[in-house]
Amino acid sequence: MSIFHTAKATCGTCGHVNDVERVASVNADLRPDLREAILDRTFQREVCAKCGTALRLQPHLTYLDFARGLWVMVEPAETIERWKQAEADARRTWDRSFGMRASPHGRSMGLSMRSRLAFGWTALREKILCDELGLDDVTLELLKLTVIRDMAEAPLADQTELRLVSGDAKTLRLDWIELSSERSISGVQVPRADHDAITAAAADWADARATFDGALLVDWRRMMFEGVSA
Ligand SMILES: [Zn+2]
Repeated sequence: MSIFHTAKATCGTCGHVNDVERVASVNADLRPDLREAILDRTFQREVCAKCGTALRLQPHLTYLDFARGLWVMVEPAETIERWKQAEADARRTWDRSFGMRASPHGRSMGLSMRSRLAFGWTALREKILCDELGLDDVTLELLKLTVIRDMAEAPLADQTELRLVSGDAKTLRLDWIELSSERSISGVQVPRADHDAITAAAADWADARATFDGALLVDWRRMMFEGVSA
């Protein structure tokens, strides 16, 4: 089941209050079109009925793709500083649906799924893409650390984030995305072999990888933000 609620979205340009359908839950097994819309970045985009300005609702939803073994709790991008609280909340929701507090049926479904927490549409898209390309999401975060280390001037302001945006058998493309507009500011092409090399050099990366043990938020920035609670 995919669940939508009616919500109000105020236009930033003209102030018109628009009635919009806001998604609370996406089931990609039943609605592959919604998964596609997330990938092509059209999901939950609206236009102000009065002046035509583009509106994008911030996510607050659960995404389930049982066939691909992925469950993601998605929160607005700018709330990442409160990730500790959000991760605790996501874990409770996961536990009730597919974890240790779930029904036997739910628990057995949960065994073949990864539980994740993502902040923002671009982050959710990245999780889906990562899966699609057969990449390991922890390894991808470690790869980002090497990309940032090698950049002369990484735009590390808290207004941008580094995200996987596309890839193929040879190359991965990572872009710095501006949070407010989801616009790409700059990007780098990384050989896919760099991802595989991190997997191969297991001992060198063991400590960094351990940061993500049992984590729902597989995002390198968990090392950056202390995680203010409440
Ligand atoms: Zn408007």
